[in-house]
Amino acid sequence: MKKYILSLDQGTTSSRTVLFDENGIICGISQKETKQIYPKHGWVEQDPIEIYQSQLQTLKDVVKDNHINHASIVAIGITNQRETTVVWNKKTGKAIYNAIIWQDKRTSDYCKGLKNQGLEETVKEKTGLVIDSYFSATKIKWILENVPNAKKQAENGELLFGTIDTWLLWNLTQGKVHATDYSNASRTLLFNINTLQWDDDLLKTFEIPKTLLPEVKDSSCLFGDFNFNGKNIPIAGIAGDQQAALFGQACFEKGDTKSTYGTGCFLLMNTGEKPQYSNNGLLTTIAWGINNKIYYALEGSVFNAGSAIQWLRDSLEIINSAKETETIANKIKDDYSVFVVPAFSGLGAPYWDMEARGAIFGLTQDTGKNQIIKATLEAIAYQCKDLIIAMQEDSKVVLSALKVDGGASANNYLMQFQADVLNVKIERAKVLESTAQGAAFLAGIGIGLWKIEDILRNRDIEKEFIPEMEERKRIKLYKTWGKAVKRSMNWED
Ligand code: ADP
Repeated sequence: MKKYILSLDQGTTSSRTVLFDENGIICGISQKETKQIYPKHGWVEQDPIEIYQSQLQTLKDVVKDNHINHASIVAIGITNQRETTVVWNKKTGKAIYNAIIWQDKRTSDYCKGLKNQGLEETVKEKTGLVIDSYFSATKIKWILENVPNAKKQAENGELLFGTIDTWLLWNLTQGKVHATDYSNASRTLLFNINTLQWDDDLLKTFEIPKTLLPEVKDSSCLFGDFNFNGKNIPIAGIAGDQQAALFGQACFEKGDTKSTYGTGCFLLMNTGEKPQYSNNGLLTTIAWGINNKIYYALEGSVFNAGSAIQWLRDSLEIINSAKETETIANKIKDDYSVFVVPAFSGLGAPYWDMEARGAIFGLTQDTGKNQIIKATLEAIAYQCKDLIIAMQEDSKVVLSALKVDGGASANNYLMQFQADVLNVKIERAKVLESTAQGAAFLAGIGIGLWKIEDILRNRDIEKEFIPEMEERKRIKLYKTWGKAVKRSMNWED
């Protein structure tokens, strides 16, 4: 009988289950949108029950729609939106508040206060992260302080905390397992990435009792069983979405790097078995734990990538679809007169300037919309180059290839320009579902179905983009990009 693995991919806007066969090939996908709740400006929540129910529904649907026998499902992997926080009652299993989503900024002022106390360096050393409302710790603190009676219940050991992986695992195992993996733990702002323990000092700072926290395990191991119509299926792989994508892209060696081109861009570089701290504003995070070894990664993100293409379509209304940007850019291939800096919401690493705003440079009487379209695409590639330069500086590793995925990686002009401006080969994977694939791989390895070598052997590249641009031009363009960024900075007062 053929064997299958279910990969549960719980994202910010939808729950999906992807069905993989024993050769790592996708045989089916089921997806359900999830609702976001915005109670106040800057607040973002979701209903934890909806998160679990929608996930469970997609699991059942994909099995039913593809006529899969339950007995042939050999493992489940979980990958999830990271940092999102749920606190629930251990006895009743009921969440005491909505899930607070990673985007939620309600604890920003509190974070500023911590920074003013000079805690930033200690927190960076312990967790690899910066003090920000993005991560789980301050969200847990907020729930404990704002839900009536929660603090007392927490002190009495009646409450549990989990990121979404933990919440799903706890529900799938009917309350038997309260655990997470290293990659998710490393996004809470409570986990010491050196000692690999929940950090007592940080727990004290955030006033969070240790009894709330899940056990932290390897990303690929037996977490517990999901009873599916009488059959126990092992849940054997867990990783946060970006780390899962890094794994799915087979970035197993130090220096291996992936870039996901979606609404924003997420870049992660595997930095091997030691944490690599950044002098350029990148995050240090745990990539995964496997075979009792911990692998670390450097992470950086571009705030506006695909969203800049949406801006061309929805705000400027100069394109009808994202796809046509490729043809338009190719039409005026040699025209580099215009530079767009899409700093719509400020600039992230390596600039970290929240006062920067978007700008277009190089306009003349002849400039038409096509130059702006082309320059917007190119801005995505320049921003990724900024991050890769920072990663190379921090890790002292020179990139030999960049593995890409995500919706906008379908754009051949963008990928060729990325290769040109980086002077690095780009490898576009055949399976663009790297996140789900990563969780499936971790689960498959967790039950002994696959080995790392099998995954490397079976990884198919759909297309390679080889750098073609001459050096002088590359250097000149990137210098001009730097000038444009500088002039867009510090705009808001
Ligand atoms: P997310 O997971 O962040 O929702 P996706 O991976 O689905 O993003 O990618 C969608 C984003 O990529 C959108 O912002 C869209 O504008 C952009 N995009 C999709 N196709 C293309 C294309 N061919 N060229 C440029 N951008 C594209």
